[in-house]
Amino acid sequence: TEELLRKSDKLSVAGQLAAGLAHEIRNPLTSLRGFLQLLQNDMKGKQHYFDIMLSELDRINFIVSEFLVIAKPEAIQYKKSDLINILQTVIALLDTQANLCNVQLLLEFESDIPEFICSEMHLKQLFINLVKNAIEAITKDGHIKITVSMQGSEMIRVRTQDNGCGIPEERVKQLGEPFYTTKEKGTGLGLMMCFKIVEAHRGTMSIQSRIGEGTIIDVFLPTQSIGKDSSEFE
Ligand code: ADP
Ligand code: MG
Repeated sequence: TEELLRKSDKLSVAGQLAAGLAHEIRNPLTSLRGFLQLLQNDMKGKQHYFDIMLSELDRINFIVSEFLVIAKPEAIQYKKSDLINILQTVIALLDTQANLCNVQLLLEFESDIPEFICSEMHLKQLFINLVKNAIEAITKDGHIKITVSMQGSEMIRVRTQDNGCGIPEERVKQLGEPFYTTKEKGTGLGLMMCFKIVEAHRGTMSIQSRIGEGTIIDVFLPTQSIGKDSSEFE
């Protein structure tokens, strides 16, 4: 057990360091972005270079933000929120991207889904990631259906179902490992972040997939496991 203890100590120290590092990287990124935008006005005809630099900066920022959630999930703030509202926001955010890919987004929910203590911001990130992955998995016309239902009186299930390319069976267990990606511009951090967010909400996530048919990702969120305020949550 001593060995185990030391291992987990080391892990949390590494996590703290990583979170600190991520914060430190973001500040200079913000100032770089600002000055680049100022320079842009004086350098007509070089627009293309600026576009590349800005989008590369945004990409570093995005990777660092995903990493921050993974390294420091305890910094999450909880309050009572409406999950359906969160999902509607996610759909509104991704609808344009979906339409461009000929993908239809659908939301269905039971009328008795209660408000519960959660982190609105992180649940948004969770479902944005799941829906984005689903959109990216669809090569032709497709649809993504999100269904919210109660499983008993204290468990909410959010099912995201797509008719995309599916995932080979032997790969499913690898999902959520850092840097596993099949995409040219992927980070392979999205699902790992999803697992961390669900775990921080004391929930579980399960994945079923069939090659060529599509993927179902179920997120189970308990409605009663997090205390009234974040200090009760440890
Ligand atoms: P990224 O999207 O950056 O590749 P993720 O962690 O979000 O990283 O996903 C890891 C991999 O899991 C993806 O590259 C893809 O191969 C697979 N994947 C995730 N969601 C789906 C899905 N809905 N359908 C098919 N494959 C998926
Ligand atoms: Mg992803």
